[in-house]
Amino acid sequence: MRIEASFVTSATSAAGLPRDGLAEIALVGRSNVGKSSLINALARQRLARTSAAPGKTRLANVYRLARGNAAPFYLVDLPGYGYARGGPTGFDELVTAVFARNPAALLLVDVRHPGLESDRAAWDWVSAATADAAVVATKIDKLARGERIRAMGQHESVFDACVVPVSAVTGEGLEELWNLIDSLVNRRNRNSRPSRISRQPPKPTARFQEPPRIGSTTRQPLRTGPSKVEGRKR
Ligand code: GDP
Repeated sequence: MRIEASFVTSATSAAGLPRDGLAEIALVGRSNVGKSSLINALARQRLARTSAAPGKTRLANVYRLARGNAAPFYLVDLPGYGYARGGPTGFDELVTAVFARNPAALLLVDVRHPGLESDRAAWDWVSAATADAAVVATKIDKLARGERIRAMGQHESVFDACVVPVSAVTGEGLEELWNLIDSLVNRRNRNSRPSRISRQPPKPTARFQEPPRIGSTTRQPLRTGPSKVEGRKR
C-alpha cells in the first residue's frame, strides 16, 4: 500500500504544533528505544534522524503520514526519557502540552527489557492521559523465537494492554502496527467531531430560541454511526 510521509516541524512548545486538527499519535519511549528507526520504517524513508547518542534535544518532531486511502495523521515524536533526565519525571511542559491536545499514544519499549521502572511509570502517565494508548515492543529481531514469546508474555503482564512486537530492521510487525495506527486514528477522528460541532452551535431563530432537545441529541455524530459520519466528512 502506498505511504505518504513528510517531516512537518520541530516544536519546543505548544505554539509550534500544527493547528489543522488532524488526528495525532504521540510516540513516547526511553532514549535509544528505537523511535526514530520505527518512524523511518513506517514512512519507508529516512525522515527521522537515528543516533546511538541518546537524549540531547527537547523537541517534539512532527511527521505527517497517510497510508493508502486512510485519513492522514500526525506522528508526534516526543523526547526520549531515561538517561540523564531521570525517567518520566522528564515529562515536562512540552509533553504535557502535546497530551493536552488529546492525541492517541504509543509507548515504545525495548522487547529485551520487560518491566523497567521508567517504562512502567511512563505507561501509568500515558494511559491516564489518553484512553487510546497501546504499547509497541521494539527490536524484536534481537531475540530468538523462544525468547520472544517469553518476553512478550512478560510485557503483556506488566502493561495489561495490547503490545505489538516490531522490528525496524526486518519489518516484522509493521503491518500489525499500521492496523493498530489505523484504528487509533479512526477513533480520534470520531471522538474529536462532537467538540468541533459544539463550537458552532445552531443559531437561534425567531421561532426556535433553543434547539429542541431530541433534535440536538440526534445530531451528535457518535450516535449516528461511523459510516454516516465519514460520509459527511467527504
Ligand atoms: P531513538 O533514540 O529512540 O530514536 O532510537 P534510534 O532509532 O536512534 O535507535 C537506537 C539504536 O537502536 C540504533 O543503533 C538503531 O540502529 C537501533 N535499532 C532501532 N530499532 C532497531 C530494531 O528494530 N532492530 C535492531 N536490531 N536495532 C534497532
